[in-house]
Amino acid sequence: MKANRMGASNEEGTKVSFKAVKWTRLLSYLKPYRGRMAISVVALLFSSAFGLAFPAVIVSLLDAVSKSGDSGTLNMLAGLLVGIFLLQAAFSFVQSYLLSYIGEGIVFDLRTSLYQHLQNLSLDFYATRRVGDLVSRLSSDVTQMRTVLTTTITTFLSQIVALVGSIIILLKLNPQFTLFILGLAPVLIIIAFFFGRRIEKGSTRIQDQLADSTVVAEEGLQGIRVVKSFGRESYETGRYNVAMKETFKASLKMAVYNSLFMSVMMFLGFGSVVAIVWYGGHEVIDGRLTPAMITGFLMYGISIAASLGGLGSLYGQVSAAIGGVQRVFELLDTTPAIEDKPDAVVLPTVQGKITFNDVSFGYNQETPVLQHVPLEIHAGEILALVGPSGAGKSTILNLIPRFYDPTGGSIQVDGYNLRDVTQDSLRHQIGIVPQETILFGGSIRENILYGRLDASESEMIEAAKAANAHDFIMAFPKQYETIVGERGMNLSGGQRQRIAIARAILKDPAILLLDEATSSLDNESEGVVQEALDRLMQNRTTIIVAHRLSTIKVAHRIAVVDEGHIVELGTHDELMARDGLYAHLYTMQFRNPDEAPPSPKISLFADRHANGKREGEAKPATTIVPMAT
Ligand code: ATP
Repeated sequence: MKANRMGASNEEGTKVSFKAVKWTRLLSYLKPYRGRMAISVVALLFSSAFGLAFPAVIVSLLDAVSKSGDSGTLNMLAGLLVGIFLLQAAFSFVQSYLLSYIGEGIVFDLRTSLYQHLQNLSLDFYATRRVGDLVSRLSSDVTQMRTVLTTTITTFLSQIVALVGSIIILLKLNPQFTLFILGLAPVLIIIAFFFGRRIEKGSTRIQDQLADSTVVAEEGLQGIRVVKSFGRESYETGRYNVAMKETFKASLKMAVYNSLFMSVMMFLGFGSVVAIVWYGGHEVIDGRLTPAMITGFLMYGISIAASLGGLGSLYGQVSAAIGGVQRVFELLDTTPAIEDKPDAVVLPTVQGKITFNDVSFGYNQETPVLQHVPLEIHAGEILALVGPSGAGKSTILNLIPRFYDPTGGSIQVDGYNLRDVTQDSLRHQIGIVPQETILFGGSIRENILYGRLDASESEMIEAAKAANAHDFIMAFPKQYETIVGERGMNLSGGQRQRIAIARAILKDPAILLLDEATSSLDNESEGVVQEALDRLMQNRTTIIVAHRLSTIKVAHRIAVVDEGHIVELGTHDELMARDGLYAHLYTMQFRNPDEAPPSPKISLFADRHANGKREGEAKPATTIVPMAT
């Protein structure tokens, strides 16, 4: 699938074109740099003006030599030329440095604000986007915006100054000759537009293809464990080759237009020189011009032709960058699905009572996932959610920190409707230990402190001890400074989980959401992880998506979720006495613990819909199921 099609505006078919770009919006990025930009433009004007004076001085110089043989004037004019070039170089330095400064500044501003925007977007946005595409927008598309805002604007100005200046000077010197040269302009303009259009389209295509191949590479590298476990290295290489081939094809097409454009412009440029020399030569023969004047005309003529050509190629460059600009704007225009109300209040420290009032929810409009769920969880209670795979257990957890908003009904924490409080203050009081532990690539210390950035050293160590993590951390040569590797790859599954638990302990939230890992740990790790979890759950409202017998045992109540409904709710004994779905599933899996599979992390209430069979009835052939897929 094309990465750009995933963008909302592109899906709706927004036309990516020169006219569609909001130029005032684009130029607004220059605002913080207007002082520097003004100086840069003045420097550019001076530098261009000196450039304009150059042919006039040359004409005088040549005339001085040919007419009078006056070496004094020659020396003076040569000195003047050196002075002119020196000043031009100085102004050009100022202009170039300031332009780079502005360019880097714009890239910095854009990347940081775009990244902040991405961080603030809701989870539903990420469900439809691929990270590679977003990274591509953050990197190469932003660079394109810089190009439009700096190089092209100043090049445009310098070309205009050179063009207008040369025309004025030439008009003063010889109007007839000027008109002759200007006759070439329409040809150049038509050609520039012809190629500009094609270059614009080609460039957008390349950017899209590039984003596609970035997505493929990003997925193949991020999922390298899965790739290797299935021996799919050449399959992934093939996928990348296909994506790159498309980019290659698009680039080749663009290369044809670019090369043709340059060659045609070059031919026209030199053709103009020949035309000027031819026309001027006749004027000299007829005695209306001196050879020195022809040289001057030639230089101004070339300046006019070069400016026209330059403006044409500038049109091509801006056209090429427009795709990137559109892609960045499209991202910036995406608003988070979940935003704080303008009058949202800060949620005070809560006891942790959670109430679901007739809550309905679906990730999309077609498929309801939760339907009219009533649920009241008392402060300090441990509630286990059990049920078949896909029943909606994790979804119930997702609604509590407001990762998604219910489509019907409401959720309250200590009587506060979640929609009325700020997301920050709500999430501040919620700890989450997800099924799949995500660690960042830094040190163990950084990963634990992620729970509370301002925690002291001793608080961090206490948290690690409570999570049964301190001992294994101290056994590493670099202890808390040990680098965990990308996504925590250098640690074992149990170690990663304990670091995630330490992180949650450090946060010390009133509400704890626990999505129990279904992946296997050995019995010893299982014991220490469970012990850490028990400590973590103390004195908090805890909701666990439970897969382990040991967890179900510590829960005060159990809610059985089936097809988006809570079908049973009560203590273990109550539910067993009721002899319903829970009792049925429980008996199936835990009738005799000795008969249960060796690891206590039985995939409790596994997918009852898969092939119409429950787990245990038909086991798949052994395969590697990586924890982080
Ligand atoms: P499991 O025990 O396997 O983790 P679960 O009971 O936690 O399952 P949920 O993860 O809540 O189930 O999923 C409930 C339904 O919602 C499933 O049909 C799932 O396919 C769907 N679903 C989950 N997340 C999304 C999402 N981000 N976008 C669309 N559909 C989703």
